[in-house]
Amino acid sequence: MLKSRWQLFAIAALLIAVVVGIILFLNRPQTPIGTQPLLPSPVTNVHLTMGIPSEATSNVANADDFLIADNSRPYAISYNNSKHIPNWSSWQLNKTWLGTVPRANDFRQDTTLPKGWYQVKSSDYNGSGYDRGHMTPSADRTRDAQTNSATFLMTNIVPQTPDNNRDVWEGLESESRRLVNTGKELYIIAGGAGEKGTIGTQKISIPASTWKVIVVMDKPNSKASDVTEKTRVIAIDVPNIQGIKDKTWRDYRVSVDALEQQTGYDFLSNVPEVIQTAIESKIDQS
Ligand code: MN
Ligand code: MN
Repeated sequence: MLKSRWQLFAIAALLIAVVVGIILFLNRPQTPIGTQPLLPSPVTNVHLTMGIPSEATSNVANADDFLIADNSRPYAISYNNSKHIPNWSSWQLNKTWLGTVPRANDFRQDTTLPKGWYQVKSSDYNGSGYDRGHMTPSADRTRDAQTNSATFLMTNIVPQTPDNNRDVWEGLESESRRLVNTGKELYIIAGGAGEKGTIGTQKISIPASTWKVIVVMDKPNSKASDVTEKTRVIAIDVPNIQGIKDKTWRDYRVSVDALEQQTGYDFLSNVPEVIQTAIESKIDQS
């Protein structure tokens, strides 16, 4: 029975292949999360755990999507050298960042920008009617004076109306810290969308709205691979106008999908695609 002998051989070969396959799978090299070669050098940055939403790189030629993610800075940003504001700022927030140091209030030029680039001054906002609006907030960085002071670099600042900044926007900032004080860890990314005008001779762009995406993790040191379909994601898009004092951040909740459409970014790009699809279509209801 030559035919069945060949069949037996084929089955045996298949079994050996499966066993070898299982052994190879179990012994596969483990690539630590965060060190995967998704992007060039400064990518092992805790503030970019959930991914880089734009094509930002630290190449000087990429002046309108310029990545600043050195580990001495307690957040990561993409800076826009045409708009003179960050495109986005991204940061981890857990209890280790919170302490009791007072607000440094030392708004100042970012002298680390590439040679020849305009360095926005605090005084550029004088008389504009717009607040110097933190993206990574001062109150999220209170563990020591140096860390707090880093939030006052003008590359972390966009023009926000007082009603946006001090009421609606501040409300979600406070809620974020409340969540952290219950043990949560947040991965936050915030920026401006559109343009409703400019400030001063240097034409600092005034965003038409300010948006934010918050991934709420159950415990500190979470990874993108810990995000599940049940992970809470809060996304807002707040008009950068006056007259919204009686509103709260809850009134401006949107889906991450809507923000991705609006900005052209891909948020949470380090999260598996199938989970992104599930969590990015929802609007927070809590
Ligand atoms: Mn603010
Ligand atoms: Mn996405």
